[in-house]
Amino acid sequence: MSRPHEGLEESLQKIYDEVTGRNPGETEFHQAVYEVLESLRPVVAKHPEYADAAVIRRLCEPERQVIFRVPWVDDEGAVRLNRGFRVEFNSALGPYKGGLRFHPSVYLGIVKFLGFEQIFKNSLTGMPIGGAKGGSDFDPKGRSVNEVMRFCQSFMTELYRHLGEHTDVPAGDIGVGTREIGFLFGQYKRITNRYESGVLTGKGLTWGGSQVRTEATGYGAAFFVTEVLAARGESFDGKKVVVSGSGNVAIYAIEKVHQLGGTVVACSDSGGYVVEPGGIDLELLKEIKEVRRGRISEYAEKRSDTARYVSDSPIWEVPCDIALPCATQNELDADGAAALIGNGCQIIAEGANMPCTPKAVEAFAEAGVTFAPGKAVNAGGVATSALEMQQNASREAWLFEDTEERLAQIMRRIHDRCLHTADDYGRPGNYVDGANIAGFIQVADAMLALGVI
Ligand code: NDP
Repeated sequence: MSRPHEGLEESLQKIYDEVTGRNPGETEFHQAVYEVLESLRPVVAKHPEYADAAVIRRLCEPERQVIFRVPWVDDEGAVRLNRGFRVEFNSALGPYKGGLRFHPSVYLGIVKFLGFEQIFKNSLTGMPIGGAKGGSDFDPKGRSVNEVMRFCQSFMTELYRHLGEHTDVPAGDIGVGTREIGFLFGQYKRITNRYESGVLTGKGLTWGGSQVRTEATGYGAAFFVTEVLAARGESFDGKKVVVSGSGNVAIYAIEKVHQLGGTVVACSDSGGYVVEPGGIDLELLKEIKEVRRGRISEYAEKRSDTARYVSDSPIWEVPCDIALPCATQNELDADGAAALIGNGCQIIAEGANMPCTPKAVEAFAEAGVTFAPGKAVNAGGVATSALEMQQNASREAWLFEDTEERLAQIMRRIHDRCLHTADDYGRPGNYVDGANIAGFIQVADAMLALGVI
């Protein structure tokens, strides 16, 4: 399944050089573009029509980028200032769709990398949604509920004019959960005087949200790995799993892995990781992270007889059969990859967006370790957001079991689409190329059909 490091084909290298020249300093965006272009060599050879219509060049340029001031007043009465972003990247397949991230590391390059990834991910789901991403450098950590509310209201007071159920439909991401979506939706409703449920996803169940949306990304990742295992004639039974992070994606990945017979032996936050060889106690983890918004070190304090807390080294040194990086971009580097490979890890599946560095991905390929990229593995979140939009449009509310079954089917289809496409383009078993090519072709064909716009 590995392929030698080929570099980019000449016409693709020219596009990449143009992207880096036009977007200086946006390293995460460059990285995401490079990774997709690397997969497209067999596509440009087979389909000259894409080059003729400059499809790839146009895909790399967002349709619209909005940057705005977000002033708000803290609990002491001081005026605070943050920057808001929305990058509406591509709407060839449907209204812009993608989450909002509130984290101090957010800048245009992060938003563009995430928006670019989102185009291919949304395409892979087979649903009619375009790609976008947004957010702010606001840090919700340590802020009171009232401060978070005032920030969200100020953010939406500017952003609302760019949104709409047929235009642009944001959701959550790091730092943005149901609470923040509630404040954002409340302000949108107040400004527009419209109860437009389909304008945001990730809503609460009593005000237009969908069953399984909270669980969807983590559950979806576990369903995807089930398919990877099945393709090898295996299952989660008896497998040791390491999950990084302890936020929304990580918690529900852990829950589903346990339901499917695997054992998650370690998870983390930005302060360190905990190891619990008998399996992470999910109720305790949820209580600390979802209810109290506490730190993972508290988990080890509560379970001091069975769990261990490590604060000064990466979680990837914990031996496992399967690793699910579910925290943030570039969290798993070449050293982490070497540790995982050395300990016999067989499958790496990205729950987060681009958590593995290019060097780590290269090392997995060279070692013959199965690697599945985030745009396929974590697509269950946005797919269930599309199911939420579908329920909002028909004013229905589906049952948990029915919605979960749809999610499982979608993840199966994404998995099979990646593998079949990889086969068709001469890259058997390569999930990265399969995901990039399948995602690309659907968007590219729509762009050809819609003309030069
Ligand atoms: P959350 O904010 O709920 O959780 C993020 C977790 O990652 C926290 O445990 C956080 O720890 C940890 N983390 C953040 N930065 C670091 C770091 N530098 N090192 C180690 N741990 C870190 O976010 P989500 O779970 O929603 O998102 C996680 C990833 O999944 C992101 O890449 C996101 O883009 C992606 N994703 C999310 C989807 C969703 O539906 N939520 C959908 C598709 C992708 P701490 O609290 O200490 O900061």
